[in-house]
Amino acid sequence: MGLTIQKYGGTSVANTERINEVAKRIVERKRAGEQVVAVVSAMGDTTDKLIGLSKEITESPPEREYDMLISTGEQISVALLAMAINELGEDVVSLTGSQVGIITDDLHTKAKILEIDASRLEKELAADKIVVVAGFQGVTINNDITTLGRGGSDTTAVALAAKLEADLCEIYTDVNGIYTADPRVVENPTKLSEISYDEMLEMASLGAQVLQPRSVEFAKQYGIKLAVRSSFNRKSGTYVKEVEKLEEEMVVSGVACSDEEVKISLIGVPDRPGIAYHIFNALAESCINVDMIIQNVHRGEINDITFTIDKEDLSQAKVILAKVREELSIEDIVYDQEVAKVSIVGAGMVTNPGVAADMFAALAEADINIQMISTSEIKVSCLIDKQEAEKAVRAIHSQFNLGSEARKSDANV
Ligand code: ASP
Ligand code: MG
Repeated sequence: MGLTIQKYGGTSVANTERINEVAKRIVERKRAGEQVVAVVSAMGDTTDKLIGLSKEITESPPEREYDMLISTGEQISVALLAMAINELGEDVVSLTGSQVGIITDDLHTKAKILEIDASRLEKELAADKIVVVAGFQGVTINNDITTLGRGGSDTTAVALAAKLEADLCEIYTDVNGIYTADPRVVENPTKLSEISYDEMLEMASLGAQVLQPRSVEFAKQYGIKLAVRSSFNRKSGTYVKEVEKLEEEMVVSGVACSDEEVKISLIGVPDRPGIAYHIFNALAESCINVDMIIQNVHRGEINDITFTIDKEDLSQAKVILAKVREELSIEDIVYDQEVAKVSIVGAGMVTNPGVAADMFAALAEADINIQMISTSEIKVSCLIDKQEAEKAVRAIHSQFNLGSEARKSDANV
């Protein structure tokens, strides 16, 4: 008997009507002779609402209690979905993260899965039941509930697929798949029929909200193919997998945009060996990730160093940098939150010179100033004014002819 692992996101189970639809889809698969494990997110914006409630009490809740609270959304949806499946006459059981044996470290709110004891899950499957699993949550060895970071149900699903040695994990969402750009920003994006793990990883961490980056890492590590599909129709979606042959010589697979970063400029930094180490080591010691960095040489013994970090880390960084400023007699520190990072991603870039130049040309033509640039083998990112982000995405998308009519697309397939 085959095994199907499916994950349904919040919009797919937003109300009881949707839950009944999802139940039908699951039952259909079961009746076609498959074992089914369905991982489910919280209904609609339940998680945001729960976070809102906690904020009414305190800005800094104890993280253990925060996880205790925000993990409840998934418990509601698995119970309701199991009831709906039961109504359709199939044997079903819902399980929490703890019941399904997902053991994590104790880094509350962004816990990592350490191991999965799948014995309960296997027992239920052997009894021919459909198993509905609460995503996003696990439990420490001390039995405290943890959560896996926003969007963590994806990671639950892929981790279970790895544990159960499934080779496909179906991710059901409210879009038809992965697009060359955000359909809310670009009029005519193309839906990709497939994308490599590495490209997806870049897209996911650069602001394409469809998959949690960690789930893509897991999928790559265990060789699990992902099918990203809509739960609202029967379209084929996008496969995320190891891609050997590039789709129609696509050099650039997509344009991503994120305004989750803040630009920090250290003005008047002494220019001598060990200074960059001093600054960035101080940040690294607090686990603050630095993304783009530039250093300008000028005024003899004095430099400016500019870099970006996640907005999330800003308040912590401010404390650390104030101390560093004292220690190194830095003249000034300027924080700029009005920035956005636009990026192009494509595995074909390595072998095609001039891709970055084409991106800069698009920005120049649109009269958009580039503040910082960073590149890797499969991406080029530019930091620009946040106000111009959407315009930039559209200009770059058309520069590379990524639009659906330009590419005789399958956007509506
Ligand atoms: N409900 C959680 C969230 O909103 C987890 C998920 O949806 O994957 O982040
Ligand atoms: Mg999600």
